[in-house]
Amino acid sequence: MKVTLVSKTLKLKHAWTLARGSTTSKDYLYFKVEHQGFTGWGEAAHNARYGESPESVKTVLEEAKTILEADPEAVHRWQEWLPSLPQAQAAARAAVDIACRDWVTQASSTPFLPAAPDRELVTSFSVGIDAPERILAKVSEASAYHVLKIKLGTKQDQDIISAVRKATDKPLRVDANEGWRDREEALQMIDWLAARGVELIEQPMPTGQLENISWLRERSPLPLVADEDICGIEDINRLAGVYDGINVKLMKAGGATPAAAMLEKARTQGLKTMLGCMIESSIGITAASFLAPKADWIDLDGNLLISNDPFIGTTCQEGKLVLPTRRLGLGVEERPDALP
Ligand code: MG
Repeated sequence: MKVTLVSKTLKLKHAWTLARGSTTSKDYLYFKVEHQGFTGWGEAAHNARYGESPESVKTVLEEAKTILEADPEAVHRWQEWLPSLPQAQAAARAAVDIACRDWVTQASSTPFLPAAPDRELVTSFSVGIDAPERILAKVSEASAYHVLKIKLGTKQDQDIISAVRKATDKPLRVDANEGWRDREEALQMIDWLAARGVELIEQPMPTGQLENISWLRERSPLPLVADEDICGIEDINRLAGVYDGINVKLMKAGGATPAAAMLEKARTQGLKTMLGCMIESSIGITAASFLAPKADWIDLDGNLLISNDPFIGTTCQEGKLVLPTRRLGLGVEERPDALP
């Protein structure tokens, strides 16, 4: 078994600005597993918001590499030993989970995940925070997408939405990324947004303010969806009955295996589900897309926001996800010369 850590800088098409900061590129590590003629790939789209860094990811991936190189059969038992890697490093565990599942399912000639109900997989497309005139340009670039997710949580929120509404009457979803600090003001903003064709509000207030979220939800005309407030499956009980739904991401859950369990558990607890992503290449997005039929709302656009995706996998055609035609394992291919 040969295991390689491959680093790659993903470049954003536009500067990616959220309520908490701005970035133009992402330095990620990829986990490559080669054995018996099959190659499995995983991606760690780490996020400083969750205490992750390139260094912390590398430490965890080196640990997994040691396990797999010492005993190649361990790849078949990855679901047993993976939870013993640091829980706080979910993106690194996701890389190992995706790579091992990719390898195992190729070797056993099965799809990456069991077949899910066949349905149209319409994804939202995200528009980061920007000056109103730049927002207009981004909205016209997003003409192929049926639903837009608008990042808010600024002093200019109404200007941003007014700019979007000058350009399109498409359904909108709003992600405040913890940016609204006062619940009365948050409620006023939600009422204002509801009158402008917004479907839902993601993470309106900072994490841990569940009393404020309950207060808001009693009064809000729109569903409230937790994102920063939910990481793993252990958070679900706490949020049931507080939020209307949760945003499940492979990079927060620790991979496709735990994310699938989260989608199931959320449903049994009466929570709606969004399947979301970080800025990711087609490795992470393709892995997530196998779960997309199980989510109420799909937000898998991370690979569409970068200009140098090293992989080809699930694509987005006229706003709908199309899974890889090669249905064994993840089904992704490297773009020639895209990786060192
Ligand atoms: Mg979010």
